[in-house]
Amino acid sequence: MAPGEQGAAVIQVTSVTKSYGSGRGRVEALRGVDLTVHEGETVAIVGQSGSGKTTLLQMLGAVDVPTSGTVEVAGRDLGSMRERDLTGFRRSVVGFVFQQFNLIPTLTAYQNVEAAAVNVPGEGADRIAGLLEQVGLGDRMDHRPAELSGGEQQRVAIARALVNDPTIILADEPTGNLDSETGHEVLELLTAVAVTGRRTLVLITHDDRVAAAAERIITIRDGLIVDG
Ligand code: ADP
Ligand code: MG
Repeated sequence: MAPGEQGAAVIQVTSVTKSYGSGRGRVEALRGVDLTVHEGETVAIVGQSGSGKTTLLQMLGAVDVPTSGTVEVAGRDLGSMRERDLTGFRRSVVGFVFQQFNLIPTLTAYQNVEAAAVNVPGEGADRIAGLLEQVGLGDRMDHRPAELSGGEQQRVAIARALVNDPTIILADEPTGNLDSETGHEVLELLTAVAVTGRRTLVLITHDDRVAAAAERIITIRDGLIVDG
């Protein structure tokens, strides 16, 4: 795609609400969100703690379902899909990166990536090694998470998110546990793998400098998109 050219919509969120709990304990985490993200876009979602950012990302990744409204991702209406198809969707259409890295502590870097792989073709081992090299960990493949720095652990998590060649990368405060220098490097890596793979990146952050690296910034407040 030429620079500046708008791809097709890859995410279409329409009138989405999400409530947790009931009665006096009811929390309205999302109160009517509309959002369109195009193919290949890098989008940052910003907003205060508790504003609904993670809830929205979970809807996009089919981790949770809206109370009302529709979510279409990569041409699929998530609300009308069967559980079986949703499992496939979560594994192959989206790749998740989390603030806490969420690596399996007993597995090496290589094994953490391998464990997330589905239908890796014959060249699976080469592909996993190649991904770890791409994120700068070619010489750390046999290290367990405790033997890696925070930035290295997040690089493993990025390789893991890419292993099934997702269309969309969803990252929830991926630099939140890193010092600013390391966070900056991880952010550059995330945007680079998104751009070179022509993937869409949706990134939640608290950090204005992190958000500034995205093409578009969406601000969410009290469960509503107020800007972007
Ligand atoms: P953010 O990621 O912007 O910090 P969240 O999406 O995690 O915000 O949360 C939005 C609101 O929903 C908050 O008030 C939070 O306490 C509430 N919430 C989130 N998850 C749950 C849950 N599983 N049960 C009840 N309330 C929840
Ligand atoms: Mg959150």
